[in-house]
Amino acid sequence: MLSSLQPQAPDKILMLMEEFKADSRQGKIDLGVGVYKDPQGVTPVMRAVKAAEKRIWEEQTTKAYTGLAGTPEYRAAMAGLVLGDAPKDRLASVASVGGTGAIRQALELARLANPDLTVYVSDPTWPNHLSIMKFMGLPFVEYRYFDNETRGVDFEAMKDDIAKAGKGDIVLLHGCCHNPTGANLTLDQWREVIAILEKSGAVPLVDLAYQGFGDGIEADAEATRLVAKGLPEVLIAASCSKNFGIYRERTGILIALADGEQARDLAQGSMAYLNRQNFSFPPDHGARIVTTILEDQALKSDWQAEVEEIRTTLLALREQLASELRDLSGSDRFDFIARHRGMFSRLGATPEQVAAMREDAAIYMVGDSRLNIAGLNRETVPVLARAIVEAGL
Ligand code: PMP
Repeated sequence: MLSSLQPQAPDKILMLMEEFKADSRQGKIDLGVGVYKDPQGVTPVMRAVKAAEKRIWEEQTTKAYTGLAGTPEYRAAMAGLVLGDAPKDRLASVASVGGTGAIRQALELARLANPDLTVYVSDPTWPNHLSIMKFMGLPFVEYRYFDNETRGVDFEAMKDDIAKAGKGDIVLLHGCCHNPTGANLTLDQWREVIAILEKSGAVPLVDLAYQGFGDGIEADAEATRLVAKGLPEVLIAASCSKNFGIYRERTGILIALADGEQARDLAQGSMAYLNRQNFSFPPDHGARIVTTILEDQALKSDWQAEVEEIRTTLLALREQLASELRDLSGSDRFDFIARHRGMFSRLGATPEQVAAMREDAAIYMVGDSRLNIAGLNRETVPVLARAIVEAGL
């Protein structure tokens, strides 16, 4: 039986990681996989996470099952983090297996509610969105998003395309720090998106994987909160992988805002049902770490401070890179790097230019020219700037 399996295409980013490891050149630079690294190249366990784990180890008396939806404490803490003042009368939520698990469950839930749905996703988007939808056999169309000339959002084109989504379709939106481009909507543009969805009855699925890495923990949730207030039905898939640095603990949440209490209860029941069919109880350790931090003022402040350190480190690297490129190129055409937010920027280089930077300068970025800003430090920024100009961008 197993010998009849078809080989699966390997993940391009993980393949790039392997190539990087095998490269023996001194001074090679990894700007591939989307993991935060400090200037020493380490992905640290955050201080508040260590403290919370110690407390959990000391105080936890059982590891018996929690609930299909996860613990109420975790769900309340996350609803608060994402939505601020969360509207209880319309909010359903389940703990998920990372942000990826929340996206998968959101799409499953949408399909249960509307088997004929089409999903609208940005062009480009995080490749896993496409891969999951293909695997599920969900029809999807891409809406225009990134403008390769300005390296910003082509908002007029985006509006035209998402207006085609009909009632009961899903429009997948990145809540902040768009992956892979780094280009984001302004709050006024979000308001226009909300007006379009309000008119059509299409339902937004907000993917929030980098809250705190763009303009701040509260500021990065602002768009999601506008959507939550502005539309009757909203799905939100949030990840704790990056902003708590607990990637391998697989911690996330799916939130559904329903139009009234009856629909909320139906959503809650279906979301718990989906957890049960897919893996039964969601993982608890990461969720417990997050709950412990968010419920304790001292731990929360320390966590906020560390997220802020990460955010300002990323911003400083962006500023430095844009400034080096301004000097080297004698133009401001790379200023978009300082305007982008989050861990990634799409440079807009051709695949040949990306390959040239890898071959000539041992700089590894994803083939679509997405670079992980966190792979840089003050010393490697000038090396990258030179390679970009030498590649002829
Ligand atoms: N959405 C986006 C856009 C992402 O970049 C990621 C992480 N790479 C995720 C969701 C989910 O991450 P995880 O499953 O590790 O929480």
